[in-house]
Amino acid sequence: NKQIVLKNYVIDFPKESDMLLKKTTIKLKVPEDSPNSILVKNLYLSCDPYMRNRMSKREGSYIDSFTPDSPITGYGVATVVDSGHPNFKKGDLVWGITGWEEYSLIKTSETVFKIQNMDVPLSYYTGILGMPGITAYFGFYEVCSPKKGEFVYVSAASGAVGQLVGQFAKLLGCYVVGSAGSKEKVNLLKNKFGFDDAFNYKEEPDLNVALKRYFPDGIDIYFENVGGKMLDAVLLNMRLHGRIAVCGMISQYNMKQPEGVHNLFCLIPKRIRMEGFLVRDYYHLYPKFLEMVLPKIIEGKITYVEDMAEGLESAPGALLGLFSGRNVGKQVVVVAHE
Ligand code: NDP
Repeated sequence: NKQIVLKNYVIDFPKESDMLLKKTTIKLKVPEDSPNSILVKNLYLSCDPYMRNRMSKREGSYIDSFTPDSPITGYGVATVVDSGHPNFKKGDLVWGITGWEEYSLIKTSETVFKIQNMDVPLSYYTGILGMPGITAYFGFYEVCSPKKGEFVYVSAASGAVGQLVGQFAKLLGCYVVGSAGSKEKVNLLKNKFGFDDAFNYKEEPDLNVALKRYFPDGIDIYFENVGGKMLDAVLLNMRLHGRIAVCGMISQYNMKQPEGVHNLFCLIPKRIRMEGFLVRDYYHLYPKFLEMVLPKIIEGKITYVEDMAEGLESAPGALLGLFSGRNVGKQVVVVAHE
């Protein structure tokens, strides 16, 4: 059983050598002392920015750190090889928390969903039909309280979450602008995901000036994926009663000491609501989410771009690529073909 393990806790920018390939042996049977568990063969693994937080030992984090010398854990799609739980049988497909390894023993008491619909690519359950999709859907429709015609800005807009937020906002009839870090990504935003406009933030010497160009009348909704200087510039451009959904702050994850935000005072005169949220609080609504999103994919009303890395060995590089913007769309690692 090939595995990717964390070598040791990371302090600032992680390196590929912080993760190691290890080989162990495993019996392809659920052990008797693990009732209610399932043994799965991993097919697709998801690379997600939050995993960076788990590579460090941080006080007060909302999620446990990884254990050095043990396989990294994260979301994935897998097929059941042996089951100790009556609701799962051999051959079932599942998505949820699994290990960065060929085979994993999963506790069914943790996040694991049975895949019922296979009319879409299975890898979608790491993205649009998995954790990032749920994040985009409830983050936008619930946390942003959007209304038709409002001005919406999305940062890291071509990524796993951002590309969906923009498309959901367009479906509702909002005016949507996204930013991303390359020409190729800006093209995707405008020509594939249907954003009204998009810009490369790396080419803008002054983000405040850039936002004034794209939102001369200001921003009603900011879907925050980035933090830092971007948030500061957005605060200066928010409209009265605007809403900021704080989904993530990827620009800060590798910093020993996060940057300060200077323009928070804008929240007061503009009566802005700024609210953080965690996707896990919405998992109980997954069936409702599927009911709404699956038909939109099948009818071609929503599209999704994935970036596939081949082989378990490619997983460390793929994960780190999220922090330099190497991924174009949802970063997936293919461990085994279906
Ligand atoms: P993406 O697929 O968007 O990948 C990350 C992207 O972030 C990169 O491609 C890069 O795009 C951009 N990026 C990286 N470093 C920086 C930087 N220093 N400054 C600006 N942009 C940067 O990731 P996801 O869609 O999976 O995640 C997006 C955000 O949502 C993250 O902040 C994540 O933590 C958060 N999240 C929060 C959840 C929650 O429950 N609250 C759940 C899931 C995700 P580019 O080339 O455009 O710079």
